[in-house]
Amino acid sequence: MSPILVCRGLDAGYHRRPVVRGFELEVEPGEIVALLGANGAGKTTSLLTMAGLMPPIRGQIVVGGKVLNHSRPYLGARAGIALVPDDKCLFTTLSVADNVSFGRRGKAALADATAYFPALEKRLKVDAGVLSGGEQQMLALARALVANPKVMLIDELSMGLAPVIVQDILAVVRRIARERDTAVVLVEQHVRMALGVADRAVVLAHGDVVLEESATALRANPELLREAYLGRNAVHSH
Ligand code: ATP
Repeated sequence: MSPILVCRGLDAGYHRRPVVRGFELEVEPGEIVALLGANGAGKTTSLLTMAGLMPPIRGQIVVGGKVLNHSRPYLGARAGIALVPDDKCLFTTLSVADNVSFGRRGKAALADATAYFPALEKRLKVDAGVLSGGEQQMLALARALVANPKVMLIDELSMGLAPVIVQDILAVVRRIARERDTAVVLVEQHVRMALGVADRAVVLAHGDVVLEESATALRANPELLREAYLGRNAVHSH
């Protein structure tokens, strides 16, 4: 199968100063890649650049064989990329149903959303602001998924949520990837949970990719991950 998302020699950062360097990634349809690393390693910067919201300093992002044009922020969405940001960006004073319709209008979209997140069904008429944290995360994912993206980029899904809820939501992300052939890049601090659903993991340390490995290998050998988190230099210094 050919990859739906490719990052080639990507430098990403702010004011032309890269905080991520030489980032390479290929994700196939239906595959979940966990993007891991300590605070400030460059995960969110990579994700925003992949989403088309920040222009790369160097390199390219290719979606479905086409180089992503960064001249307008909406071109990423048009190319089939959906970002689920860590602050969820919901319209808290609008109803759940209205929030979903920002992804796609119509009854079919609502049916899609509630098929994956049945907990939202009884909440369609209430304001998004009164939902629980878990429900808000479901809504953010539902809004992204009804747009039928080829690629979902999900930032810190677990933030502020109880582990059991995170586990349930990640299981739905797995189902979305499998059933809809959606490629997923999952930025996650909760490494063990991310490895529970991911096929592969990429670890960033200080803006460099220091490890790329299958989730199975990393689950079997957590030491690999510990070393990667310390950074390549730290690994070689002892
Ligand atoms: P976290 O888990 O803490 O969000 P992260 O791996 O997602 O970490 P980034 O948020 O991508 O890391 O940050 C990478 C680097 O870029 C950090 O050094 C950060 O200070 C810097 N940075 C982030 N946002 C900006 C910005 N708007 N302007 C300038 N530098 C920034």
